[in-house]
Amino acid sequence: MVEPVVRALKDTNSFGLVMAARLEWEKFETGSLEALRAEYEKCKLAGHTRLHLDHVPVIDEDDRRVDYMEIIRRAIDAGYESVMVDGSRLSLTENIACTKQVVDLAHAAGIPVEAELGAVMGHEGGPLPPYEELFASGKGFTDPAEAVQFSEESGADWISVAIGNIHGAISEAAKGQKKVAARLNIEHLDRIHKTAGIPLVLHGGTGIRKEYIMESMKHGIAKINVATATRQPYEATIGNGLKAAQQAVYDAMLAIIKEDLEVQDSAEVLNPED
Ligand SMILES: [Zn+2]
Repeated sequence: MVEPVVRALKDTNSFGLVMAARLEWEKFETGSLEALRAEYEKCKLAGHTRLHLDHVPVIDEDDRRVDYMEIIRRAIDAGYESVMVDGSRLSLTENIACTKQVVDLAHAAGIPVEAELGAVMGHEGGPLPPYEELFASGKGFTDPAEAVQFSEESGADWISVAIGNIHGAISEAAKGQKKVAARLNIEHLDRIHKTAGIPLVLHGGTGIRKEYIMESMKHGIAKINVATATRQPYEATIGNGLKAAQQAVYDAMLAIIKEDLEVQDSAEVLNPED
């Protein structure tokens, strides 16, 4: 999937982070973080791409404890350019402590760290509560007061927030299903933005209604993670061979960049006089 993703970024003269999470080598076909690194090395394009390690959970989606420091260390050694530690299943105090530990290691290597505060649900086994119920209750939403404490004490560079966004399902039974059209609580996002004081990340980008995505960018969202929208076309076409699957990923990426995110070709919009 890396090659068509990078090609689409280049052809639209845009920029993106190529990323995989631990669950993608545990449960999908990524192999290992080193295998992704090797594939990325063949395709990377200065000015268009960087390599990011997505979710390294402290406690994973199956409730197992993970040796997150070992994985982060391996990623830094392998040459990843930023990393994410996900302590969102811990208490605030423990999340801060684990994140701080990763920040100390990564910053010493000159690498920024993303962390998660609140719970972006969807990766866990078992059915999610009905989406509208989840949204109305605000269950798991990032707490703005905690966000300020978290950013100050952990030293994280980005915070992944929960404001109505949900991850795509990963279970064999549900991973091919269309994602629910999620909404975002923009007022809540704005409160987090004002207290946290650092760039925010929106996970579960696939399926969020476009007007919310566009609005979120005006209220602190600096990075949008999209996985399901490229993974599903790949899985649906890989039976017809790698070329067909790569074409499907390329087409999906073009739609994400141009239509969903309305990224302008910077060659057209950058004014050298500015
Ligand atoms: Zn995520």
